[in-house]
Amino acid sequence: MTGLSIAGGTVVTLDPPAAERRDLVLGGEPRRTLDASGCLVLPGLAIAHTHLYSALARGMPVPAEPPRSFREILEKVWWRLDAALDEKLLEASAELALLDAALSGVTAVIDHHESPSFIDGSLDVLARAARSAGVKAALCYGATDRHGAQGAREGLAECERAIRAGLPAMVGLHAGFTVSDETLRTAADLAKRTGAWLHVHVAEALCDAGSFERLEKADAVGPKTILVHGVHLSAAERERATSAGTWIVHNPRSNMQNAVGYADPKTLGPRVALGTDGMDADLFMEARVAHVRAREAYGPEGGIDAIALLASSGRLADLALGERPGDWIVLDYDPPTPLSAANLAGHVLFGLGVHHVRDVVVNGEIVVKNRQHVRLDAARIRARAREEAARLWRRMA
Ligand SMILES: [Zn+2]
Repeated sequence: MTGLSIAGGTVVTLDPPAAERRDLVLGGEPRRTLDASGCLVLPGLAIAHTHLYSALARGMPVPAEPPRSFREILEKVWWRLDAALDEKLLEASAELALLDAALSGVTAVIDHHESPSFIDGSLDVLARAARSAGVKAALCYGATDRHGAQGAREGLAECERAIRAGLPAMVGLHAGFTVSDETLRTAADLAKRTGAWLHVHVAEALCDAGSFERLEKADAVGPKTILVHGVHLSAAERERATSAGTWIVHNPRSNMQNAVGYADPKTLGPRVALGTDGMDADLFMEARVAHVRAREAYGPEGGIDAIALLASSGRLADLALGERPGDWIVLDYDPPTPLSAANLAGHVLFGLGVHHVRDVVVNGEIVVKNRQHVRLDAARIRARAREEAARLWRRMA
């Protein structure tokens, strides 16, 4: 890390919540200074679950016959999209998603990937895009038997290849209901042999309600397991996941969009992190929706600790990718009411947004300055994405 001071701002930390006027000194000499006068300085945000492959979906045509269930949403939309991805499409999608992440104050993402027509080497494409954007990315291929046992083997082989190549890679499974017991066991074994994390959608909708037990039987539930959604985990399963030390990722906007039910994150234990599930990279919005959805569920005494959710997402990213002491973001936010550690949540939930993100620092390097990515040509990436998105939509038709 080369030397950088972020000077003149109010440094806000989430874990523990604190807000004080001080300078941040990162790395050694030679030292440059980033002027954060009148701004808030926050640790780099982390998305605990996303899909970099889905960024070209925005505005795409909806199915002629609207999906009537979660399974039909997958069959008519997402499984058509992932099957249509080739290397160029994936590259355009990842570049766009990671540019958006950086500009949104996100310095780390935990990605869950699928591109069944282009499996071998797909995680390299994502890793390259992450390096160019200056965003840290934990990667996995979500293996599935949807395309036969061979497809599942290729998915796990891609995870293993990436892990052995030294990429920050995990073992991925799409979801319990699309993998055989054999694939599930092989994935659990691979995670154990390599010491890697396991990242899997679980009980997102009723069609996947039995998956947690199958994961337990395969000895795949532990402190290095990331269960995504968990909407339909039973009370007993929530307790067992908690005592196993497992992480659960809450994606409230995605759950509402897919109408799969309420995950009730208050009952998911202490290791609940926040994901955007590929919608965008807006964690301020995700936290806000998590709060208002909890409020709707519990009434006026409800709501959710948004600070804790954002902090634990950062903690999970630190565990998966290594500590991130050099990752900070500068928000051009002049608090219109008093701001302190005690009322930070109110400012996060009802004030702060991605539009306040002015500068982003990763490992002490300035990646975004004055809302512009310093290395990437945003206009070129968006123009390419528009072209590739049109091609993707044609391939899906
Ligand atoms: Zn997902």
